Amino acid sequence: MAEPVSPSWLLAERSARYDEAKHGQRPINVWEASLRYCKLACGTEMPALGLGTWRMGESARRRTAEVAAVRNALNIGYRLIDTAEMYGEGGAETVVGTALGDAMRAGDVRREELFVVSKVYPHNASRKGTLQACDRSRARLDLDQIDMYLLHWRGQHPLRETCSAMQQLVAEKRIGHWGVSNFDTADMIELLAVQRELGIAQDSVAGCATNQVYYSLRARAPEASLLPWMRSHRMPLIAYSPIDQGALAGEPALRPMAKRLGISVAQLALAWVMAQNAVAAIPKSVRDAHLRENFAAAQLTLCASDLAELDRRFPAPPGKTPLTVL
Ligand code: NAP
Repeated sequence: MAEPVSPSWLLAERSARYDEAKHGQRPINVWEASLRYCKLACGTEMPALGLGTWRMGESARRRTAEVAAVRNALNIGYRLIDTAEMYGEGGAETVVGTALGDAMRAGDVRREELFVVSKVYPHNASRKGTLQACDRSRARLDLDQIDMYLLHWRGQHPLRETCSAMQQLVAEKRIGHWGVSNFDTADMIELLAVQRELGIAQDSVAGCATNQVYYSLRARAPEASLLPWMRSHRMPLIAYSPIDQGALAGEPALRPMAKRLGISVAQLALAWVMAQNAVAAIPKSVRDAHLRENFAAAQLTLCASDLAELDRRFPAPPGKTPLTVL
């Protein structure tokens, strides 16, 4: 039997390469920091790292810098971009659409490499409202198809209506896949019952493919029941706010381990999220250094003893607790 490669060796090797890159000796490129993927139940591969865009598109003054940040992320190698009609009331989708269009025209990225996620407001998620909201988002993104379209959180419209609108959008290729966000286990069970009533098989492209929830070292509520339930239904979880909106980057309890591993505290927090099976993460940043750091963090492999130490310092709640919702 082949000797297993030690994860700590891999980490040491990768952080040394990252260190060289950080100090300008050579650039981090897509080849050495290629993306990991999470498989959807239908077999499609979704990048396990993406760029968040919340708070973008809110100010005309910042627009040029934000387009440049998304454009830079694409150059670094990000291929999943997460946005929503809520962010800047469509402004973030416009920022993303401008950056994507520019990158595709320049030949820096091909459409088929990209995985664009957007979300419908719950108050728009009626049967007709979902279809109309999706068309507005597609126009702002300047895309024929949104790769993953999510219900942002549960609202007053019956799930049956949203579900059948999503099914129609998939059938008409206006979206590639759909999912939900901020759904706890009970909501997921209800959603699957609705899907069954509508005759939608869970492993078809017309079935709910993911759930995007708050998940970080300090927000581990999904682990008690939601995450195991999603894994058993072959649905990857998309972790939002994986570095606690930036707060984990300054977490003193993470400093000694990060220092020993030669990585930043934010990278350690992100590497922990990405070490969880069937979990993708979508950290947001507009800064070049952070974008690069976060992208490189997706390549880090933490060894079992480091994971155990993080577990001790940031324990999961002992039983089921409600999800944190932002
Ligand atoms: P986050 O990604 O955990 O943190 C973003 C903050 O951390 C920003 O202030 C960023 O500042 C800073 N940061 C990023 N990388 C860093 C690094 N390497 N070192 C130090 N600081 C760093 O929080 P989030 O934006 O709330 O969540 C990520 C994305 O998830 C959102 O943008 C959005 O797309 C999505 N989301 C979805 C929902 C939902 O309900 N579905 C809710 C919340 C968020 P700089 O820009 O200055 O780097």
